[in-house]
Amino acid sequence: MGSSFEADSVARLREAVSGNVYLRGDAGLAAEVACFNPAVVHDPDIVVAVTSDDDVVEALRFARENGLAVHIQATGHGSESPITGGLIISTRALGSLTIDPATRLAKIGAGLRWAPVITAAAEHGLAPVTGSSTSVGAVGYSLGGGLGPLARSHGFTADWVRGFRVVTADGEIVTADDDTNPELFWALRGGKGGLGVVTEMTLELVPLRTLYAGSIFFDAPDAEAAFRAWIDWSAQLPETATTSAVFLHLPDMEGPPPPLRGRFVFSVRFAYPGEAAEGARLLDPLRAAAPVYLDFVGEIPATAVATIHNDPEVGAPSWLRGHMLDSFDQRDGSALYELVKPGTDSPFLAVEIRQLGGATKVDTADGTAVGGRDSLYSLSTLAADPATFAEAAPARAAAIADALAGKISAITNVNWSAGLTDEAAFEHAWPPAVFDRLAVARADWDPERRFAFGPV
Ligand SMILES: Cc1cc2nc3c(=O)[nH]c(=O)nc-3n(C[C@H](O)[C@H](O)[C@H](O)COP(=O)(O)OP(=O)(O)OC[C@H]3O[C@@H](n4cnc5c(N)ncnc54)[C@H](O)[C@@H]3O)c2cc1C
Repeated sequence: MGSSFEADSVARLREAVSGNVYLRGDAGLAAEVACFNPAVVHDPDIVVAVTSDDDVVEALRFARENGLAVHIQATGHGSESPITGGLIISTRALGSLTIDPATRLAKIGAGLRWAPVITAAAEHGLAPVTGSSTSVGAVGYSLGGGLGPLARSHGFTADWVRGFRVVTADGEIVTADDDTNPELFWALRGGKGGLGVVTEMTLELVPLRTLYAGSIFFDAPDAEAAFRAWIDWSAQLPETATTSAVFLHLPDMEGPPPPLRGRFVFSVRFAYPGEAAEGARLLDPLRAAAPVYLDFVGEIPATAVATIHNDPEVGAPSWLRGHMLDSFDQRDGSALYELVKPGTDSPFLAVEIRQLGGATKVDTADGTAVGGRDSLYSLSTLAADPATFAEAAPARAAAIADALAGKISAITNVNWSAGLTDEAAFEHAWPPAVFDRLAVARADWDPERRFAFGPV
């Protein structure tokens, strides 16, 4: 079905904006709003591929005049379900980037992925605090908090945000920082959506040229011993180091390195932003705990941060569930291993536990809306075979959640939440007081609920 707008109003929009406007059925629309997960295909009434703040203002004017819900998309990494109508503001072309080495502040356009920010920052011996994948959008990631390979040493990425430029629902271009619109600034650091269209983010970079980091792999026969060792070893790891553990069952196909194809392996990721010798000293007890199959940990440049987790750069159909955990001990390890080990028909390509704590527990002096600060671990389950998405993956994820019931945090983090259109999942993405304060901020900045975010 095509989109039914007055021809005049679409012509006025096209005239007013520099970016492309696509109506349903137009060539180019699908590519503009393609998602990382190709199983999710959006079908909006109209897409405005904005190139400036003024384009965003005009797109919002069109949405108001036509009573359209507004969705915002950069890379499409966050899309879990198809958008079936309304207007999508695609921010991909907002690619500006400036770095002031004296203040260590980067001004990052809303369309940028982490990768170009990392490359530009490295020229000054600096680095952004990023997530595991550098193809994720810097702004979308940071709006949700942002937990990455330096989580324990450097905290949530939102903690390093120093300001935003935002186009509000009524088309005003405003600054949100400590001094100007501080409540909006608070809400955007972790509250994610329903507040406005961020066009630029100011992020403090950290001095970091190299780190001792990477991943080591244990083959199936040694996976359980290595996992048990990881649980005890990580519990006493200094908070200056960050680690995660993942059970991988990689398909036998192009993509993963040949020694990992078609295998069940257990991998430990490690990142220590300090001297290599000290990093090695911290990691060596784990290396000694079980025979190591592959060892890719060493001193790496800060530009190689994506090689710690080796997330896929190209998306594939996937089914994902995430939780935060209050704690994780040997008993939980046994329960989890029973549900993911070889021979159990586990539908998951990856079952990952990230250790949190350290800087993730400490909010900024002025406070942020980030959810999940009290948790000490995150847990994600990822299935990649579409035949498992309807039953096997949800059933096994539910079994894992049951087995860890006492440990699953009441509050998760919005970047780890699936199904945000579900009332319960949405409410659990923030502590109750933060949730209520965010509701007030959203009502203040978007009284008509123009921005589609949360339960409908
Ligand atoms: C492979 C992969 C790895 C990931 N790794 C991590 C990780 O290590 N840590 C972590 O915390 N998260 C991680 N995530 C989750 C990721 O941070 C979120 O999905 C995030 O929302 C992606 O942002 P995006 O802009 O790339 O995606 P998009 O799908 O383009 O945007 C997602 C949402 O962000 C909001 N948004 C984006 N841009 C704007 C804007 N300019 N103004 C207002 N709202 C905006 C909108 O609500 C939008 O729906 C990962 C996701 C994937 C797929």
